[in-house]
Amino acid sequence: MNTEKKVRVRFAPSPTGGLHMGGVRTALFNYLFAKKHGGDFILRIEDTDQNRYVKGAEEYIIESLKWCGIEPNEGVGFGDGPHAPYRQSERKKTGIYEKYAQKLIEAGGAYYAFDTEEELEEMRKRLEVARVVSPQYNHITRMNMRNSLTLSYDEVQKLLDSGVPYVVRLKVPRNEEIRFYDIIRGWIVVNSSTIDDKVLLKSDGMPTYHLAHIVDDIEMQITHVIRGEEWLPSAPAHVLTYKFLGLEQNMPQLAHLPLILKPDGKGKLSKRDTSGLPMFPLNWYDERTGESYVGYKESGFFPEAFINMLALLGWNPGNNQEILSKQELIQLFSLEKVHKAGAKFDPEKTKWFNQQYLRKKDKYELADLLQPILKENNIQAEKNYVAEVCELMKEKAYFVKDIWDMGSYMFVDPDTYDEKVIQKKWNTESQKIIIELLQYLDKTEPFSAEHIHHTFEQFIQQKHKIDYQLLRTCITGVSSGPSLAHIMAVLGKEKVKDRILKVLERVKV
Ligand code: GLU
Repeated sequence: MNTEKKVRVRFAPSPTGGLHMGGVRTALFNYLFAKKHGGDFILRIEDTDQNRYVKGAEEYIIESLKWCGIEPNEGVGFGDGPHAPYRQSERKKTGIYEKYAQKLIEAGGAYYAFDTEEELEEMRKRLEVARVVSPQYNHITRMNMRNSLTLSYDEVQKLLDSGVPYVVRLKVPRNEEIRFYDIIRGWIVVNSSTIDDKVLLKSDGMPTYHLAHIVDDIEMQITHVIRGEEWLPSAPAHVLTYKFLGLEQNMPQLAHLPLILKPDGKGKLSKRDTSGLPMFPLNWYDERTGESYVGYKESGFFPEAFINMLALLGWNPGNNQEILSKQELIQLFSLEKVHKAGAKFDPEKTKWFNQQYLRKKDKYELADLLQPILKENNIQAEKNYVAEVCELMKEKAYFVKDIWDMGSYMFVDPDTYDEKVIQKKWNTESQKIIIELLQYLDKTEPFSAEHIHHTFEQFIQQKHKIDYQLLRTCITGVSSGPSLAHIMAVLGKEKVKDRILKVLERVKV
């Protein structure tokens, strides 16, 4: 590659369904690479396969990239740029794909094929009878078919003029070595005899992915193609196409990302194997199947945590750092450090990432995030108070909603009490101790965690030892949680006294 060239990469999804987390990772790696090199990141929509087009998928892709904070600088939904349009169905109307197909035919790298569905089916059957393992339209079989390699020039012209449907196929040579370099996998060598004569232009005039992405990568001056491993088997055919166009030297550099595997490492991650975590960044409703999927966003994940987790699926910075901000990811990212082997998805680790980001958040920011949940539960509380509760609860929380789930007693008086604790520990003796302790607490001034601690110590020295679990249960209704003295300090003296008195009244022995 000419090192002078500005780095330009593209994310080129097909709108055939919800963009899942594997797709987001591909977009992320493209984004990080572009930003690292001061380059451009482009979103191109590859919608040439109209049969597989799913309504809403394109908007979903755009919304997902926005939520993740990995926004392209050019492309559909992000303000078109100098290479508009960025949707292949619209690019088709400019005649660009036919032009390239024509160039390939003229260069002897492609040919017309007039075979009907029935003729293709017959060929497949013939090959099956002959026990050919994977029947293909290739350098051998094409010589028995109806195409511009077997028909005379005049016959071909006649068929073209009469409007008989045809496709254009890549003319893959026999027994040639195709060599190409993949930044992640190194040199790859494939014998051309194993490759089929891929269709480049379909009979409806639409290009296939194989032709369209090459044309667009050339026209959009793409320097690096970073995509999923599933495209590696077609790469040799793509290399040949560049060669036939005389553009082998200008071909973008290739990098095929490793698969994301199921948590047990056995096979590719699928919607059914995420161990309860989402597969999609945002809620996704599949109109064809009527199935709904919950997204990472709606499950309470922070986008920073989600992309941090994704970045480490198949890559790491080479030190042990795991929590990496977007800026750090950009700084440290390199394709050379991406692994070849599949990366196991780890649901627990994914939650851990969210926990780490939650802990790093300022208590006032958390208070704002908790606000909608409080509202849903008809709780009105001062922002300062909510912030203190968040500070108290955040150590154990994975998600903002956990703060409410674990700490709703900071907002509403408990009306149930851990039965086991009460049954076992509530008796005349423990009641007496609590009444005495209440007097000590009443005199604690200021009612801070530090002073409450001090009161406890005094009480133990002068009176009796304290059953903290019982005391906690009286105040919060539950038998575990963050530091009791801190809980009491945040609740305030009056609330603590009220709650203890309420229990003394309600739970008489
Ligand atoms: N449209 C292809 C896809 O859906 C893009 C592959 C590529 O990046 O070349 O994954």
